[in-house]
Formats: sequence, structure tokens, C-alpha cells
Amino acid sequence: MEVCVGSNLGSRSSHGGDNDRPDERRRRQLVRLMDAETRTDPVQGSAVYPLGSRVNERGHLEIGACDVTELAAEFGTPAYVYAEDDLRARAREYLDAFRAHGDDFEVIYASKAAPVSAIYRLFADEGLAIDVASGGELQMAIRAGCDPARIYVHGNNKTAAELELAIQSGVGHVIVDSFDEIQRLDALLSEPLDVLIRVTPGIRADTHSYIQTGQLDSKFGFGLDDGLAARAIDAVRATPNLRLVGLHAHIGSQIFELEPYVKTIEALGALAAEAGLGAEEFRLLNVGGGLGIAYTAGDEPPSIRSYVDVKVEGVRRVFDPVPRILVEPGRSLVGNAGVTLYEVGTVKEIPGVRTYVAVDGGMSDNLRPMLYGARYEALIANRAAGIPDTRVTIAGMHCESSDVLVRDAELASPRVGDLLVTPATGAYGHSMANNYNGMTRPPVIFCKDGDARVVVRRETWEDLVSRDV
Ligand code: PLP
Repeated sequence: MEVCVGSNLGSRSSHGGDNDRPDERRRRQLVRLMDAETRTDPVQGSAVYPLGSRVNERGHLEIGACDVTELAAEFGTPAYVYAEDDLRARAREYLDAFRAHGDDFEVIYASKAAPVSAIYRLFADEGLAIDVASGGELQMAIRAGCDPARIYVHGNNKTAAELELAIQSGVGHVIVDSFDEIQRLDALLSEPLDVLIRVTPGIRADTHSYIQTGQLDSKFGFGLDDGLAARAIDAVRATPNLRLVGLHAHIGSQIFELEPYVKTIEALGALAAEAGLGAEEFRLLNVGGGLGIAYTAGDEPPSIRSYVDVKVEGVRRVFDPVPRILVEPGRSLVGNAGVTLYEVGTVKEIPGVRTYVAVDGGMSDNLRPMLYGARYEALIANRAAGIPDTRVTIAGMHCESSDVLVRDAELASPRVGDLLVTPATGAYGHSMANNYNGMTRPPVIFCKDGDARVVVRRETWEDLVSRDV
């Protein structure tokens, strides 16, 4: 479209013979300015896309300096595409934010957001510790080479087998979540293991109810108001093998307000004082993850820096001596680093109702819109600088009417064969992927400096029957 404006003008001026008239010169100048405006890159500098993304000279989206049309040709669609530098930059942002306050901290990658061996390795390499929420994630982290001593094991119903694996692997910390688990874990141990107690502080963060976890009515942890947290402290103290070293609270995900963290820290302070936790029993304070990210251009989450500042300052204000501060981010480390690349297969216009653009994926690779109404943006990646001129509903290819990835997306004249990208799918996309309708799960591709490599291959139809006996 922008090319048309420029070339029309060019042809008019070259044949019109009025090149020198000042008002015409001004008009041409104006049109050129408007032209430049319409050419603006919708991706560069956007908080939604991976750092370094841009629209290249061919009008194609680039992630990690890789042209996504070339990625699609080489690796097929759908595909999860990550900018490796983005992952590293966010890890460093967390570390730098803490270092500005001192050196007694731990940034723990909540790996449920994207449990990918290459991501475990990358974050371990950057100096992060790892949080796992199951025996499977623990296996992956260990096989990826993460130091077991810096692994934190979560879960509201850890099985005996998972706890045994944790013990045998020599994990540093288990976050105990129930009275049953306190007994189960203690019975499995022959020597002391460091544990934190997961507390649900009774604080409701302003986020979707399905991803709130800090309220009293929760399947996670021990409540404060009902006295269970204080009882859990006594229960741990009474065991021969569990060594209490701190408290943990994670109040939910995709949180944009920082105030609930301050309240959480204060609530944990009151519990620690009430229970008389000494310095040894309260060496660590894990204030969870939860920092929100930009899924659409209108989203303005707090920065990593201000999130860390609020937590550190809150802990320093409430505690003396100050315990080591732990945070456990997932989404804010990986969410904006990844996009999902699809191909458009059908465009169905229902006159006066809506236009459906169907892609070759959907709820099997991104469950979040269906689970809790998560909103995304979309872009036609092979005409990435095109002016959005068509309002559409982006549907998946599954046998469910709820299989809608984006409602009311504004796209540039979507056509069959176009490549479509949904940004900010780096967290809880791959990890929640499934085989509904016999879909094969997409590959994970890392891009850096123009080089792309597959770090998780695409599932095959053969894989779908590989567990049959
Ligand atoms: N810690 C715990 C215990 C969690 O349950 C979660 C997410 O569910 C996280 C950390 C990571 O949260 P987020 O991805 O919002 O940072």
C-alpha cells in the first residue's frame, strides 16, 4: 500500500510539469511524511515482540534476525520461534536489578512456563536457579545439566516417586505444600533436607481467578487466616528430617500491580514473628513469580526492575535480619521471547457477521485463550508492514467452536497461504501443548544473529502411536 502512494505521486509529478510550484512541493513533502508514517515498523520497539524483532526490507517479520518466511519454508508451521538473545536479556535484567541492591538473592526460573532442555541450559548458564513442579520437569532440568542443589521442587500433590527422585537427585530445596506431604517426605528421608513452607497469605491479586493462588480458598499451600501456616511450621519442626529454612508465597500470575507483593511480604513477616522463626529457620524468603507481560500493545506491565525493587525494599523494611530474597519468575522470562508461526489455510467471510481466518494450529498449541480468555495480537508476517484493514476472528483447526486464538484481530488483507504470527506465546504455549484431534506438537526453534536451530523437533504422526502396546 505504501509503495502505491509513493509511486503514484512519482508518476504524477514526473508527468504533471508542476514540480516547482511551492504548494505542490509542500504537498509532496506531506505525502512523503505520511508515507513514512504508514511504513512504520509495527514490531520494532514493541513490548509484545521479542527484543530485536523488526520488519525487514522484504516486508517480512524477523525474529532473532531470521526472516520468518524462511523459517516457515525450512521448518514448517506451526512452530514456536524464540529469540535467544531475548531470553538472555531478561535473565540479565533480573540479575542486574538484584545486584543493584546487593548480592544475597536468587533468581529461580519457574520452568513450567517453558520446560525445554535448551531453555533450562540457557538460564542455568546465565546463573539462574530452577523451579520444577513435577518429577518430569525435575528429570528434564537434571538431564539438561542444571545443578540439583539449585533446584526448588514444587507441587501441591507430589507423589512418593517424585519425592524419592528429588531426594536421590540431591535437590537443594523442597517447598512443602500439605500436612500429608510433610509426613510423606519425612518418612522417605534418612538425613535432613532443607524445606520451605508454602503459605497462601490471603491476598487476592488482580488477575484471572484461574491464575490466582494467594487467596485463602486455594488448593495450594497453608493458609494464614485459618492458622494452618502456623501449624505447618510446628509440624515441620516436629519432624526429624525436615529442616525449615524459609517461607514461600506465590500469589498468582500475570500481575500488573506491585502492591499485593508488599502486602504478601508484610503477611509473611507477621507469620514469622508470631511463630518465632529464628535466623536459621528463616534464611530464605521466596516471594514467588507472577510479574505480568504485554500480550497486546495496550498492556503496560511494571518493569522487571521495579518489580524487583518493590520486593527487595519490602523485605528489607519488614525483616531484621533480612533473609535471602528469592523470586521465581516464569512468564516474564520467556513469554515475550517467543512467537508462534502459523499458515493461513482458509478465509471464511460470513457477510454481515464476521470473517474467520483459520490457521494450522490452535488450542493444541495455545490453550490460554480457551482456558482463561487470554488475549493476543496477530500479524501477517509475510506482509508485516501492511496496513491492518480487515477485522477477523483467528480460529484454529480443532473440532471445537471455542478454538479461537484471537477475536477481533486487525490484519492486513489476510489471504490463504499467508503466514500469521501470534506474539507473546513463549510462556505456557509449548508447556500446555496437547495432541487434541491427533495434532502433532510444534517444534521449538531458537533464532540468534540470523541463525536458526531446532531445539525441540516437531512431533510426528509416528510419535502419536509410539506408546501403543
Ligand atoms: N511459582 C509458582 C509456585 C507458580 O505456581 C508459578 C506459576 O504458576 C510461578 C512461580 C511462575 O509464575 P509466572 O509465570 O507468572 O511468573
